[in-house]
This record gives sequence, structure tokens and C-alpha cells, in this order.
Amino acid sequence: MFGTKGLIHVYTGNGKGKTTAAFGLAVRACGHGAKTAIVQFMKGSCVYGELEGVKHLPGLTLIHTGRDVCIFMGEENEEDYAEAARGIGLAEEFITSGDYDLVVLDEINVASDMGLVDSNKVVDILRRKSPRTEVVLTGRNAPQDYIEMADYVTEMREIKHPFRKGLDERAGTEY
Ligand code: ATP
Ligand code: MG
Repeated sequence: MFGTKGLIHVYTGNGKGKTTAAFGLAVRACGHGAKTAIVQFMKGSCVYGELEGVKHLPGLTLIHTGRDVCIFMGEENEEDYAEAARGIGLAEEFITSGDYDLVVLDEINVASDMGLVDSNKVVDILRRKSPRTEVVLTGRNAPQDYIEMADYVTEMREIKHPFRKGLDERAGTEY
């Protein structure tokens, strides 16, 4: 779909909209017949509306990796590393094989920032990216290396979020 012009996107920052923008791009690309893979990091168990929503999109492969809990910096265990490695192995195949038009690595920036994923490994995969494949990296605290390699870098910056008013997360908007 992109010929030999597949590019790299980074969606980062503390405001809302990174994951939903990436899924929106997948929906758009799907409308052009794209073969797409989405690999989610650190999202083991929870019910995410976007996953159910895109399940039936033609040409979409969806992989989610991670343990059944939210993990915080310093609480990672072996299973978290193993799950992240599984995600990276699949991401490498999807990005370098030339079989996919679009590959989204959702929350890869957070997983890299936490050290669950080796950012040098991701940079190596991006260097070997198939020229036809577009890649999207999402999540807060994107490593500088990813920003430098990317063609599109967008920072979602929080100006207001109802979380500040104590509003609980809502199905359909937050997850
Ligand atoms: P979304 O999934 O809605 O596109 P996101 O991917 O930009 O958001 P993450 O940093 O991945 O956001 O955060 C995950 C969850 O936290 C989502 O439910 C998101 O709506 C919510 N969220 C995003 N930004 C904020 C914020 N500034 N304060 C509180 N919650 C937020
Ligand atoms: Mg997100």
C-alpha cells in the first residue's frame, strides 16, 4: 500500500489520544485494504473496547501481551519480561518480513522506558524495517532514539482531563 515509502510514527506525551489515534489509523488503512498488525505491550487481561472494536476488521492481526495486572516501575517480574520478549519477537517478524502494510506497537514507549523492552533492540528492528511497512509506536516517555528515527512525532499534551476532577474512567472513552 505504501510502496517503498513506509514511514515511522511516534505518538507520545501525557495527554489522552495516543492509543486511539493509532487504532484510528489502523481503521483508516484497513479501508484501503491494508494488512495490519497491532501488538500491544503491558495489556494482558483487561477489557479494552478498542480490541473488541477492531477484532472484525479484515486484514487485522491483533496480539496482546502482558500479565493480568497493571504494573508499575519496579514491580516487573520474569513473566513481564517474557511477555514483552514475546511481543518484540512478533513485532520483529511483522516489521521486517514485508508482509504487512501497517504495524502498531501500542505502549512500546512505556515498556521501553520501564526497561521491559531493550530500546536498542527496537532501534535495530526499525533499521531493518521493510520499506513497504508503516510503523506506529505509542506511549508516554518515548525514548529519544525512537523520536530521532521517526518521520512523524506527535506529542499529546494534557490541557484538561476529567480524571483531575475525580471522574472515574469510563467505558468507551478511556478503555
Ligand atoms: P487513549 O487510550 O484514550 O487513546 P492514551 O493511549 O493517550 O489514551 P495512555 O497514556 O495509554 O493514554 O493511558 C491509558 C489510559 O489513561 C487511557 O484510559 C486514557 O484515556 C487515560 N489517560 C490518558 N491521558 C490521561 C491523563 N492525562 N490523565 C488521566 N488519564 C489519562
Ligand atoms: Mg495508550
